[in-house]
Amino acid sequence: MTEKLIFELSSPGRKGYSLPQLDCPPKGVEKILPKEFLRENRAELPEVSENDCVRHFTRLSVLNHHIDKGFYPLGSCTMKYNPKLNEQLARLPGFAELHPLQSEEQVQGALELMYHLGEYLSEIAGMDKVTLQPAAGAHGELTALLMIRTYHKKNGNPRSKVVIPDSAHGTNPASVSLAGYRTVQIRSNEQGLIDLWELEKNMDEEVAAFMLTNPNTLGLFETNILKVAEIVHSVGAKFYMDGANLNALLGYASPGEMGFDIVHFNFHKTFSTPHGGGGPGGGALGVKEEMVPFLPVPTVEKREDRGEFHLDYERPDSIGKVHSFYGHFGVMVRAFAYIRSLGGEGLREVAKNAIINANYLKEPLKEFYDLPYDATCMHEFVLSGNRQKSLGVRTLDIAKRLLDYGFHAPTIYFPLIVPEALMIEPTESESKEILDAFIEAMKKIAEETKTNPEIVKSAPQQTPVGRLDEAKAAKELNVRWSKQRF
Ligand SMILES: *Cc1c(COP(=O)(O)O)cnc(C)c1O
Repeated sequence: MTEKLIFELSSPGRKGYSLPQLDCPPKGVEKILPKEFLRENRAELPEVSENDCVRHFTRLSVLNHHIDKGFYPLGSCTMKYNPKLNEQLARLPGFAELHPLQSEEQVQGALELMYHLGEYLSEIAGMDKVTLQPAAGAHGELTALLMIRTYHKKNGNPRSKVVIPDSAHGTNPASVSLAGYRTVQIRSNEQGLIDLWELEKNMDEEVAAFMLTNPNTLGLFETNILKVAEIVHSVGAKFYMDGANLNALLGYASPGEMGFDIVHFNFHKTFSTPHGGGGPGGGALGVKEEMVPFLPVPTVEKREDRGEFHLDYERPDSIGKVHSFYGHFGVMVRAFAYIRSLGGEGLREVAKNAIINANYLKEPLKEFYDLPYDATCMHEFVLSGNRQKSLGVRTLDIAKRLLDYGFHAPTIYFPLIVPEALMIEPTESESKEILDAFIEAMKKIAEETKTNPEIVKSAPQQTPVGRLDEAKAAKELNVRWSKQRF
């Protein structure tokens, strides 16, 4: 079923809510706003009752697939349950109604929360200090590379290139370019891990940093991580961890112990803050001592003598500001609540169950789909739709068909080193029944590709909107309502 636009539900004169009669003389609005900013005609807003309006948006809210509606195994994105408790805490008036221009004395509670969140993240990642400012993972990467550039420049040479593996996420090379570096990509070995020989060959004194996701984007732990760190540091380069997959390590292993100098956290992945829909994210960054002077301003500090919190702008080597005010504060409240409500043991359970769930899906599915890198995985794994492609059904078709079975698709066509990739991440917060149902659906689709490939290729049939002409949607997108068209 599709839903009409709210403008089409409109009926002239219908009201959702009426304000009482004005009981004082109306002040000329022209005196408050300059005339050039005033409308000449009334805004053409939909006229609907409150019921019409609420029902319209309630119906709309379940047309799309989302995490509160069903399983969302989008690999690398960690689409997990967003605890409603955290939403409630973020909406407490003491947090939600703060103004960013209030004085430090008036926002001690907010500063305290940020200070402690930084401490928790430092402990989780084995880092010395944290900035909470970056707005998402990609922004954290850029911030880190700007810090690395400043660090090397201070030592006489900003250096010219950054090395990444061929399994890296697309934001890595993009951040490298934005920071004014050239990307050097190295090939992974047959196990899907860093090839030490390839790495060594490409490391020299012009390399500013090596960026690595661990566990990597195949969901595999880099078993030679200490050796990798040694090679990177031997030429004076910095070792950066893309922390998108940190949920697989929580409480078991820390990037600091692996030799990383900087790591970003994705609050909307590891720490369960809402994800997608263009809403705010959080890409905090943890750094080792040597990189602390370059952190963006301001940092949140505690005066040990008086127990007060303040913002420190007096940091001469800082790269400057990377976000207005504090960063996305509401997201920090949610991440803080998540960490506090789970505690150390709870976070360990998160990692453990995420790993168990991924392996629970991987084992039966590898019978029906190719698994190019067959090893015990961490929190996710990557299948290939090669076998199905030989029957004329592509990974994109499989992804669309899953929608008919009530599941969101996995991440597809990433990482690039797996042809027809299907990257599956269940997360810790799904039950055995859900995982079993997903396995069943994937099995059925594998069968359909043999017995009735057309049904897979023309999927989805059960969704309000079927397959779109994607080229047209990208090039001739017109989603603006105009009265003339209706
Ligand atoms: C999600 C992701 C990023 C980018 O993070 P955003 O928070 O989406 O900007 C970088 N690397 C990997 C491996 C990711 O999965």
